[in-house]
Amino acid sequence: EAKREGKDTLKFFDQSMQIQARQRMELEGELRHALNRNELSLHFQPQVDPGSHQIKGMEALLRWNHPTMGSVSPAKFIPLAEETGLILPIGEWVMQQACIQAASWHRHFGPKSPRMAVNVSPRQLKKGAFLDVVQKVLAETSLPPGLLEIELTESTIMEDSCNTITLLEEFHRLGLMIAVDDFGTGYSSLSYLTRLPVDVLKIDRSFVSGIGTDLNSEVIIRGILSLAESMELNVVAEGVEDREHLEFFQNHPCQLFQGYYFHKPMTGDQATALLKDQLTRRMVSNT
Ligand code: C2E
Ligand code: MG
Ligand code: MG
Ligand code: MG
Repeated sequence: EAKREGKDTLKFFDQSMQIQARQRMELEGELRHALNRNELSLHFQPQVDPGSHQIKGMEALLRWNHPTMGSVSPAKFIPLAEETGLILPIGEWVMQQACIQAASWHRHFGPKSPRMAVNVSPRQLKKGAFLDVVQKVLAETSLPPGLLEIELTESTIMEDSCNTITLLEEFHRLGLMIAVDDFGTGYSSLSYLTRLPVDVLKIDRSFVSGIGTDLNSEVIIRGILSLAESMELNVVAEGVEDREHLEFFQNHPCQLFQGYYFHKPMTGDQATALLKDQLTRRMVSNT
């Protein structure tokens, strides 16, 4: 009896694995065409200064809108793009589109225009051509390199430290800013921070969401903030959703906030309108 049940379970397990594998292959097939079919787009989420509420940065976030599946979550398709190598052409497109947008804002809004933060996958760093891509895009768009920030997760930075150091130093030499994304979740030694040319730490959303309910999260955030202060790094708090989060940071200052409390990710047109609004309002209040 038990043996038979075991067999059935196995059969069921086998079937569901097959279904999963098939769905994955189908998704991969669709993702392969997403770029050519114009299904990809970028959204932008503001990073605001807590004192003035001014937008200092924008993070470019990739969106995939499929004709029948609708919008597919980045949590689903980014890992697939990384595994299949599709992240190389897609990542190049992201870099290009993000810089086109940032350069356009720079032309319209001048020196006050926000810095553009672009997420970069480990796979992209491993391919030596990425430095060329960045240089080419900067030249094509005339974006001042200081307005471009690349976001790498802790694990990306740790993966192949020797090669990464050289590459990050090259980026620094170009004038780019380098941010460590999802900081605090990598369980890695912090010593790399002293060896790598890092400018910004982005506190992972999971810690911010623990504010008020999870003492450990608050301890970790305080630790990150004091570490950043002594190393003269800037900090972005990700996932700031409510007043309670904000109040915590009143006693523990950090440079920038990114989260639904201020702004959700939005289209390029919406972001442009928001920037226009902000700049005109500031002109009015200054007179
Ligand atoms: P990430 O780089 O850590 O981006 C922040 C994520 O948090 C975004 O999710 C953003 O929409 C979400 N978020 C921001 N504020 C809040 C908040 O207050 N509450 C909550 N609940 N969420 C908030 P999204 O857009 O789904 O992106 C997920 C991840 O996908 C990103 O995490 C990043 O790792 C990856 N990703 C997105 N675009 C790209 C890309 O162009 N290239 C690469 N390599 N990865 C990307
Ligand atoms: Mg990011
Ligand atoms: Mg993050
Ligand atoms: Mg993340």
